[in-house]
Amino acid sequence: MSEWQDNRVFWDEALKEIQQQISEQEFVMWFQQIHYSDSDEQTLTLSVPSSFYRDQVKQRYLNLMETTLENLTGRSLQVDFQIRKAEITPSPPLQATGTRPTDKKRANAPSERAPQSTAPGLNQDYTFESFVVGDNNRFAANAAMAIARNPGTTYNPCLIYGGVGLGKTHLLHSIGNTVWHTHDQSKIVYVTAEDFTNEFIRSIQENRTHLFKTKYRNADVLLIDDIHFLQKKHETQEELFHTFNALFDARKQMIFTSDRPVSEIKDITERLQNRFTRGLTVDLQPPQMETAMAILKNKTVKRGVTVADEVITLICQKITTNVRDLEAALTKIIAYAELVNKEVTLEVAQQQLKDFFSSPLQNNITVDIIQRVVADYFNLSPSELKGKKRTRQVAFPRQMAMYISREVTEASMTDVGLEFGGRDHTTVMHACQRISSRMRTDPTIDDIIQTLIRRIKEESSRA
Ligand code: ADP
Ligand code: MG
Repeated sequence: MSEWQDNRVFWDEALKEIQQQISEQEFVMWFQQIHYSDSDEQTLTLSVPSSFYRDQVKQRYLNLMETTLENLTGRSLQVDFQIRKAEITPSPPLQATGTRPTDKKRANAPSERAPQSTAPGLNQDYTFESFVVGDNNRFAANAAMAIARNPGTTYNPCLIYGGVGLGKTHLLHSIGNTVWHTHDQSKIVYVTAEDFTNEFIRSIQENRTHLFKTKYRNADVLLIDDIHFLQKKHETQEELFHTFNALFDARKQMIFTSDRPVSEIKDITERLQNRFTRGLTVDLQPPQMETAMAILKNKTVKRGVTVADEVITLICQKITTNVRDLEAALTKIIAYAELVNKEVTLEVAQQQLKDFFSSPLQNNITVDIIQRVVADYFNLSPSELKGKKRTRQVAFPRQMAMYISREVTEASMTDVGLEFGGRDHTTVMHACQRISSRMRTDPTIDDIIQTLIRRIKEESSRA
């Protein structure tokens, strides 16, 4: 047996040492997802669930991993990562009676809160158990679970961002629900940024801001949903800034959600932006096919209905925007089948999905909206996108907008060219080729395109 085949053993040993050196939370969060994969003389290869995970682990722990291994083996070993194939796991149950080391104390002291009770404002159905974990949300789900286990210790604050219907509110409530049952002395306050704003304004009008301050500054866990709503609300931002500082100093846990990265929330003070991103920031992406299917299957089981796999596959093939739309399509199909007393066959599903797509909601994306969203994203005006300027600052966003126009509308190359200041269709073709080849080599371009498409869809559904 060659020497390096012992590397697996060394890795197991290294893991034990690393566990001693970092907090349990960090260990659970990062190292439980790392599997030994392979090794040769100079390298030890580990597998991780996603490139995001790999980058984070490298940045945080590569040094620690390599030195720990070097101490154990007496030679230098390079640690390499590979990305595992997609995997879907239901979240592990997280109860007060769990057997994790940190839960021991709590297991002996069962919650005094009634099992069926819920913290005010929290939806009991939004739990970690009902949240399906896939590559699109694994990092966010793990972070949320780690926080729910030990609020206020490591990841504070935590910011979860992602487009509509991707599970932000679900995760936020899951944290609240878990803490409610496992930390029975904790005061949990959940609020949407909109309600926070309205409550604050009312408290000024009614001259009782002190009550408002007491409520929020006494929270042990403060959950604020949809902070993008705070843009332009200067006084509320100011108030939240002070609330934040008070809670942060007292080591109370805060979790925020936003439909976009904080840097893209406009008209929000820089110091508040800094606070939001001071801890851990995690994002949610639309689910891939397998995860989407697992989510829908879960929903059918919960509702006690049987839906054929082929129907679920069809829904997931057709609807790739977000989980909310997936659920809406499923509900519509089931409701129809129940109404007319028919089985949910593939034909029924196809017919119903057709209506779903021809509804104005899904169908009114225009080049005009695309130009507005893209211009806005790059801080340009739509007329600049359509104009003659060919500097890089304008040309690249323009090419992206052309590419997206071809992807998400029915417009032909010629149509698109006309919409962009009467350009020739070959210009559009060139733009599309250029963007697709850049997307293949540069994942950030791909990310930007996905973000833009998501926003364009949101914008069109409001139009
Ligand atoms: P957001 O707040 O990001 O707009 P929500 O949390 O309201 O999205 O999620 C929309 C719907 O999708 C909810 O019914 C939620 O339960 C469901 N959902 C989202 N992600 C998942 C998931 N991974 N597993 C199960 N259900 C999910
Ligand atoms: Mg939400």
